[in-house]
Amino acid sequence: MARERIVKVLIDGATSDLSFTYLVPAGLRVETGHRVRVPLRNRSAIGTVTVLEEIETDNLGYPLKPILGVVSEDPFLTAGLMRLAEWISSFYLTPIESVIRSMLPKPSRGEEEKRKTAKFVELAVALSPEILESFSGRQKKHREALVILQEQGSCPLTELTGTHGVSRPALKALQERGFVTIVDRIVSRDPLGEVEYLESAPLVLNDEQRIVLDQVFESSRLVEAGEKVKPILLYGVTGSGKTEVYLQAIQRTIEAGKGAIVLVPEIALTPQTADRFKQRFAKIKDQVAILHSNLSEGERHDEWRKVLDQKARIVIGARSAIFSPIENLGLIVVDEEHENSYKQDTSPRYQARDIAVVRGHLEGCPVLLGSATPSLESWNNVLSGKYDLTTMRLRIDNQKLPIIRVIDMRNEGKKSQSGPTILSTRLRLAMEQRLAKGEQIILFLNRRGFARNILCPECGYVANCRHCSTTMTLHRKEDRLICHICGFSQLPPSRCPECSSRSIVNAGYGTERVEEILRQVFTEARISRVDTDSMRKKGELRNTLNAFRSKKIDILLGTQMIAKGLHFPNVTLVGILNADVGLYIPDFRAGERTFQLLTQVAGRAGRGELEGEVVVQTYTPHHPSIQFARHHDFDGFAEYELAMRRQFNHPPFSHLALITSRSVHQERAEFSLKTLHARLKRNLPAEISLTDPLPSPLVKSHDQWRFQIVLKSNGARRLASHIREVMKDLTFPDDVMVTIDIDPYSMS
Ligand code: ADP
Ligand code: ZN
Ligand code: ZN
Repeated sequence: MARERIVKVLIDGATSDLSFTYLVPAGLRVETGHRVRVPLRNRSAIGTVTVLEEIETDNLGYPLKPILGVVSEDPFLTAGLMRLAEWISSFYLTPIESVIRSMLPKPSRGEEEKRKTAKFVELAVALSPEILESFSGRQKKHREALVILQEQGSCPLTELTGTHGVSRPALKALQERGFVTIVDRIVSRDPLGEVEYLESAPLVLNDEQRIVLDQVFESSRLVEAGEKVKPILLYGVTGSGKTEVYLQAIQRTIEAGKGAIVLVPEIALTPQTADRFKQRFAKIKDQVAILHSNLSEGERHDEWRKVLDQKARIVIGARSAIFSPIENLGLIVVDEEHENSYKQDTSPRYQARDIAVVRGHLEGCPVLLGSATPSLESWNNVLSGKYDLTTMRLRIDNQKLPIIRVIDMRNEGKKSQSGPTILSTRLRLAMEQRLAKGEQIILFLNRRGFARNILCPECGYVANCRHCSTTMTLHRKEDRLICHICGFSQLPPSRCPECSSRSIVNAGYGTERVEEILRQVFTEARISRVDTDSMRKKGELRNTLNAFRSKKIDILLGTQMIAKGLHFPNVTLVGILNADVGLYIPDFRAGERTFQLLTQVAGRAGRGELEGEVVVQTYTPHHPSIQFARHHDFDGFAEYELAMRRQFNHPPFSHLALITSRSVHQERAEFSLKTLHARLKRNLPAEISLTDPLPSPLVKSHDQWRFQIVLKSNGARRLASHIREVMKDLTFPDDVMVTIDIDPYSMS
């Protein structure tokens, strides 16, 4: 009887989750999580090993083909990640093979792992004084090269020919005479390579911080003892010292020989946060992997490799860092857990914070979620006992939270002769005072460009994008109308295309226009604008923020790029120019987002010795989001908003699934969705409700027409399984794409 090793392999690109069985050739090391090459019909394919077992192959009755080889010596996915992939696949209705591929950096997804190599020169003989003597006179450089190699063992070729000035012919001569050899070696691109970080020592914690840290330690202890623990929600006001708690919790985790993952919303936007991690762990810099969107694909892959090889034990990164192949995970931190950027908006449409909780559960490790404005999902999980709550209500050194003044812009409009204004009298005076005292100001406007749109007062014409159902924004510097959805741009018309009137106007304010106004009003002030238009180049944001910190800028004007994670002690005034943007959009989370944004932006003021003031300009001063934010009242806001959500059975009291069809052919997109709707309605479980097929709020985008159905249920699992059953035997025309988003964050 022959017992042989067989594997089940999930083939890449298979739309349904089919796996095939193969033999493992003797002597080949294979484990689950290995990426392998296998024969498939008359070609070869790549796949992932999901099951490895030993069976009697004699009674099988059919021959098994052997796998052709492994993509890399070691498996790319840990056992924990394999289980996580299954969970994600079933919860988010995404084929597991696509989940697995999205867990891997691009250079490791194919036939072979693309790794960077470089040429190294190595010494091939033992050097004796005689050999060295033999190179003299014109061959001095030959001798120098040998001495360097003797000291270092080997040297990158470029360094030898560059820094050390050894000529290529000299090197060639040494190689031909057998003194040196040139070899290819795998090297790692290190994005922090040249940067030196000064080590920062742990701070002495205050009482509130200590209690939180102890709670995390206690969780670790319980997990160690084999008990299940709940995720911990850390609700700490802005400036209460949450980051310091994370740093010390991670330090302890590393000392215990375990790994840690820290999720941050978007590193490119919060260079200060990343720097604090690098400084604290400066001594063990090589053990820290940083994954952010400004890395090249290769750099990203190398950082991931450091983790896979278990060299890096701390990973800091945006949402996909939750898939880091750390074995023996000891802590997951999700900073600013309320941030929408944790939701991925392409397939697989996962929510990284929720995945963090699942991973913690699967791998038995504490999860710490932190925020000054917790998401209502997490807050409700505290109320229902699923999460533990811990709070830090005081700012460090008992600094006061800033005073927030709400300005009713409806009155400002009446005062002025020239239509709506963007700077209220109150804000302008406050700015003058700060400038006179040499203090700094942040102004926030969540809209880039010059004018929101251009319109004709004679006939009502508005410039719309011809590819999307949205208005075009005027960008003055480029002198173009640009669509913020698809990027299409065109020259602004000088007269109305409909009625030829010359009185076309620029309506609404963008950051570009406000910058122009500021320069006219505050002629002496040094002003900088931060948005995706002005910060195109790598490093530009960091430079601007550094200039602001060293007081080379008086007024920093920006979009949400400056809303989070920034800490400037000399900022005493923050102005929010239009708090209503984002409040009146058809999305049940609009109020929550506005509350979060106001609170976070306000948190940028008064973070030093000086007291801060925030001026909020709005056309709806009595809106609850604005009033609760004004009183720094998160608890009140959460209670009010949760009552509303409960009344309408909105999340977090229910789960939604958003099904969208897209096609360049309007009727086909609509028809496909109607078919799907009819099938979903048949045998609909009682607790699930669904809307009729409707045009999406953004009915056309990138030339694609969009229609949607929203399903709602109190159980996410039942929702998913009903949709899965229906979708199983439905096919759509090739030019119609249907996507499913479970727990969607954007309803447009
Ligand atoms: P949060 O993340 O809650 O907004 P931070 O972690 O940024 O707050 O802390 C605000 C400031 O207080 C930082 O400059 C930080 O270095 C400082 N800080 C934090 N904890 C302490 C402490 N225990 N003692 C002194 N300063 C601290
Ligand atoms: Zn007109
Ligand atoms: Zn467009």
